[in-house]
Amino acid sequence: MKRYNIVGSGFAGLSAAASLAFNKKDVHIIEKNTSLGGRARQFKSDGFVFDMGPSWYWMPDVFDRFFKKFGKKASDYYDLIQLNPGFQIIFENYEEIKLNSSWDEILSLFEAYEKGSADRLNKFMIDAEQKYNIGMTSLVYNPAISFFEFFRKDVLFNITKMNLFTSYRKHVRKYFKHPYLRMILEFPVLFLGTAPQSTPALYSLMAYSGLKQGTFYPKGGFGKVIEAMVDLCQELGVEFHTDSEVKECSFNKNKIKNLITSKTILPTDYVICAADYHHFDRFILPDEYSNYSHRYWDSRVMSPSCLIYYLGVNKKIPKLEHHNLFFDKDIDIHVDDIYKKPKWPTDPLFYVCCPSKTDNSVAPNRNENLFLLLPLASGLNDTRELREKYFNKMIKRIEEYCGEKFNDNIIFKKSYCINDFKEDYNAFKGNAYGLANSLLQTANLKPKIINKKIPNLFYTGQLTVPGPGVPPSIISGQVVADYILKNL
Ligand SMILES: Cc1cc2nc3c(=O)[nH]c(=O)nc-3n(C[C@H](O)[C@H](O)[C@H](O)COP(=O)(O)OP(=O)(O)OC[C@H]3O[C@@H](n4cnc5c(N)ncnc54)[C@H](O)[C@@H]3O)c2cc1C
Repeated sequence: MKRYNIVGSGFAGLSAAASLAFNKKDVHIIEKNTSLGGRARQFKSDGFVFDMGPSWYWMPDVFDRFFKKFGKKASDYYDLIQLNPGFQIIFENYEEIKLNSSWDEILSLFEAYEKGSADRLNKFMIDAEQKYNIGMTSLVYNPAISFFEFFRKDVLFNITKMNLFTSYRKHVRKYFKHPYLRMILEFPVLFLGTAPQSTPALYSLMAYSGLKQGTFYPKGGFGKVIEAMVDLCQELGVEFHTDSEVKECSFNKNKIKNLITSKTILPTDYVICAADYHHFDRFILPDEYSNYSHRYWDSRVMSPSCLIYYLGVNKKIPKLEHHNLFFDKDIDIHVDDIYKKPKWPTDPLFYVCCPSKTDNSVAPNRNENLFLLLPLASGLNDTRELREKYFNKMIKRIEEYCGEKFNDNIIFKKSYCINDFKEDYNAFKGNAYGLANSLLQTANLKPKIINKKIPNLFYTGQLTVPGPGVPPSIISGQVVADYILKNL
């Protein structure tokens, strides 16, 4: 039997593995770290369970579609809770807006801020839903190898409706005037790692998912979704090799023959790189086999990295919701500090997740589990002192908003930043979410899933199509597996 080695056990690697094993292939996942899941790993300490990366479960249909392919349901593996409110945004002077799970209440909220805006929001969402449906059926499952993929009647017909050449910011501004309403609709595209002014209006589909479909939470945390996919892979016969970093490849003519790991030599017929694309392409392959030059990679616009704090607090903090966005400072200044003049931000926006609001399995009784995330330009200098300085800035603002002190109640504290992304995941410039989804880095303009010189090497994951985020990474694994199954 031909052997398929998949390098990396994040969502993309697991998704590709399940899809290939389901088609009776001999599949092995080779993972550098001790635990599986890549950026979505969990760790446990002092009675707290921390998701290391993702916390927003959007686009539930993508997860459902994935499990359905194997005759399963997401609910066979984990319980999904719809959050209410889905999230809250904290604006200037700590005025907060809670986004309810009921669409009628969201409409009333908009109307209360701006007359006539409920009607306009309905129109905005009809358009966004259409984009979501077209995007999620005709576009994201394409391997994006050739522009001819777009020369299908259905795709060409729909592409004109996608507003590829209008900026998302302009699009939102056509509908709404109030700065808070604009912000509520603009913030979802920040997940794409670009500024609203540089994102195509196509991505209003994100607002559709976040506001109309709702925000969900897998009970036990995002780690449960990783566990589910690992269980599925094991049911299908995938073998896992942890603590095994791929260091080199050996070749037979122009094909990879062996993967040389930190532990052993693994023979291979096909390799799927589900690890950081840049690292594999530039540092594991010999120069002559790389798909892209150093110059190419240096000219990519990366989505931000981030400073994260995982905190255990020995008391409850009533003012916090599950998802809290501190947008009490000027977003454009922070965005410039990421993209235009990369530096540690002057007045950062940040995000606080408090999953213990919803789930008492992630913190001891009467304790709070907090995850603080501050977006930063990739590649910045990362020191203990800088981390601590920004920790203090965030805690001060959270305490002011909550109207109570809790710094002295922190019984567990761990930071994670650019250097850790590099160290743990071989992440290019310490990026957190891959490439920014600007128009020039979308679809066929992203790094390709095939290697032009090595016929048995393929790529998947957040640095290739369709892009960053958990649902796209799951789709990416399916796209590469389907491509291999169809073409080999
Ligand atoms: C802090 C943070 C918050 C996020 N929040 C959200 C969110 O709320 N919602 C959402 O949808 N998305 C979110 N994302 C994005 C999402 O988590 C990622 O896009 C997705 O998990 C990427 O999956 P992947 O499989 O492409 O890569 P990864 O998860 O990075 O997997 C790659 C794997 O390859 C391994 N590897 C690297 N080099 C080697 C090697 N040489 N040998 C062997 N193994 C190797 C790594 O250890 C890693 O396990 C977040 C990301 C981060 C970092």
